Amino acid sequence: MAVDLHTHSYFSDGDLSPRELAELAHAVGVKTIALTDHDTVAGLADMRVACDELTLKLITGVELSCSWRGQLLHVVGLGIDPENKELLTGITGNIQRREDRAQAMLQDFQRHGIDLKPFLISEHEQMGVLTRPHFADALVKAGIVKNKATAFKKYLVRGKPGFVPMQWPGIEDVGQWISKAGGIGVLAHPARYKMTRSKLCALVEEMLDAGIRGIEVSTSNSTPQQRAQIASVAREYRLLASIGSDFHSKQQPWARLGAAPLLPDDLIPIYNELVH
Ligand code: AMP
Ligand code: MN
Ligand code: MN
Ligand code: MN
Repeated sequence: MAVDLHTHSYFSDGDLSPRELAELAHAVGVKTIALTDHDTVAGLADMRVACDELTLKLITGVELSCSWRGQLLHVVGLGIDPENKELLTGITGNIQRREDRAQAMLQDFQRHGIDLKPFLISEHEQMGVLTRPHFADALVKAGIVKNKATAFKKYLVRGKPGFVPMQWPGIEDVGQWISKAGGIGVLAHPARYKMTRSKLCALVEEMLDAGIRGIEVSTSNSTPQQRAQIASVAREYRLLASIGSDFHSKQQPWARLGAAPLLPDDLIPIYNELVH
């Protein structure tokens, strides 16, 4: 059964509309898909219509930005009620943080002699939340870097122009929003945080206190060794194991839709627990 529980549309930093995403899922044989845009549920209504037409099973989702010990983490909420008030209030706060950050990023680029505003996607074109990849695209359009990867090396990251440090909500906050909305929280792409096993375990213990019971064991762009380590943590804490490509674009061959490896047999797959 092909399952992909971590994907993006153009309601955040993905290239495709929800319908195009659903059509691609159908074409590559994905049967169950979660749309998990950054800090927004705005794409879920269109996604629902397209998935119903294509008889794909849609799991509602959102990828929430949060901070833990000064580090940015992503927690995916799956099976959420997208109309839940606590969740929507939390999301609104994160969108406001993103808007404030975007203004601060533009000012920081100004200080470095770069006027990015004319190249940034206009409010009119903007479908959803403003993310750093939109700034990376603007840097490419302005002819300042040759591609997005270079934009994320020379700009936008800690110590480089355009980086604005963020204070996101804590994991206890995002855990609460997800639980209130009837969903299950999942630590997204754990290998990307470059934590030791003991630090990851400390995080998992705090996640469990916050009601976050899932972890992405199978993600694109991770090594078999990393997946084995995350699987061992999932086993130790009896976490629900998730699988997701983190698909954004057809231009990223390392994160193809539906292409994350299968979960180890002995783990508890999260998709058996999801209702919405
Ligand atoms: P934001 O949530 O606005 O800070 O943007 C984070 C997003 O930027 C991630 O979800 C990725 O999609 C994207 N991103 C982060 N680092 C890179 C990178 N090195 N190359 C391309 N995209 C990146
Ligand atoms: Mn992204
Ligand atoms: Mn992420
Ligand atoms: Mn993602």
